[in-house]
Amino acid sequence: MTKNYIALAIPGFFTFILAEYLVARWQKKQYYRFNDAVTDLSCGLGQQLIGIFLKSFLFGIYVYVYTNFAVFHFSSELIAWTVAFIGVDFCYYWWHRMSHQVNFMWALHVVHHQSEEYNFAVALRQAWFTGFTSIVFYLPLAFIGVTPGKFATMAAVSTLYQFWIHTRTVGKLGFLEWVINTPALHRVHHARNREYLDKNHGATLIVWDIIFGTYCQEQQEPLYGTVKPYGSWNPIWANFHYWRDLIEQTRHTKRFIDKIKLWFMYPGWSAEPTDAVERKDSTEIETPRIRYDTRLPIGLNLYIALHYIPTLLISTIVLFYSAAMSQFELLLTVLMMLLTVLIVGGIFEKRFWAFALEVFRLCLFSIVAVWINLQYSTVFDRYYLFTTVLFLVISAAWFTSYRKLFGISTAVLREKKC
Ligand SMILES: [Zn+2]
Ligand SMILES: [Zn+2]
Repeated sequence: MTKNYIALAIPGFFTFILAEYLVARWQKKQYYRFNDAVTDLSCGLGQQLIGIFLKSFLFGIYVYVYTNFAVFHFSSELIAWTVAFIGVDFCYYWWHRMSHQVNFMWALHVVHHQSEEYNFAVALRQAWFTGFTSIVFYLPLAFIGVTPGKFATMAAVSTLYQFWIHTRTVGKLGFLEWVINTPALHRVHHARNREYLDKNHGATLIVWDIIFGTYCQEQQEPLYGTVKPYGSWNPIWANFHYWRDLIEQTRHTKRFIDKIKLWFMYPGWSAEPTDAVERKDSTEIETPRIRYDTRLPIGLNLYIALHYIPTLLISTIVLFYSAAMSQFELLLTVLMMLLTVLIVGGIFEKRFWAFALEVFRLCLFSIVAVWINLQYSTVFDRYYLFTTVLFLVISAAWFTSYRKLFGISTAVLREKKC
């Protein structure tokens, strides 16, 4: 398996996010909202953690095809790397374009476009299951003889390149707007303005969009987000909500053939012209709308931050050391991290289930801390155990002091106790 270049770049990502936040503050602009940025990070974190299990399977398919069916073996390294770079970029373009134009593929990719902000954190807002569709588009590279190592490296380079273009702090870049993907061009891609829909699908090079007619330069300031707003901070549901919409639409479609067709048509397509939501003609697309938002007391946001930072740290450590961990340790840690990001989303929305789950999570983490101490007492000695449990007990008192926000008064709690 190749190195996880994305995990190696995590400190760099956070440095850029901090720098962009400070530049925006200095310019007296608000590019970040705490709940939105945290949800972006939760999506990215989930994608990386789920990726530990999915990547080896998907990469295995590529390796299998390359090993058994590769037609060419390039003698020149220079040619091999050039083919790998152009090949990955070309295949990405078609995968990305189809992900916007075919309903079931949009259901997977939509996660990346749900934020109504545009900043470096949005770059990390990655969908969890798009690997299942992208691998199909990349397989021709295995057939023509791009080695698995070169493919994995170039795919990582492509992902890393696309990080820096998610910013509003960089304007247009002159002639480069005709050669490579730039912040201005990718802002267009994230816009829901009518003239910007389904434009600029390229990863590194923008020439594919110019050649295949999907190129569009930034004119007016884009309105960000999807045509139909997601309206939630839940990073797990973000990966499934469009499937629910498609199932609903299928149920309401009359003819059987249209029920099937729906999944392969563009988002917003409907078989019945009377209640069709014709995407291109919708008058609602361009209306500036109130962005989805919820407010929490500063103390509760601070609580979330204090628990989110260790979540990010633990997840990063897991990404680096996943190969050295047993399947049980890996699964337990990944589930605990996913539980945490799910609860954080629920707290932002002041959901009762999030309150209940957070109390459960604090108990669970205390039990796991004791278990780690018993299993690995050399690494996790009594001092750390004491500090961790103390932190969790203080957290429980701190968190439950906000119970009224979740619709729970002390009277109700007492009633339930009896
Ligand atoms: Zn996209
Ligand atoms: Zn993007």
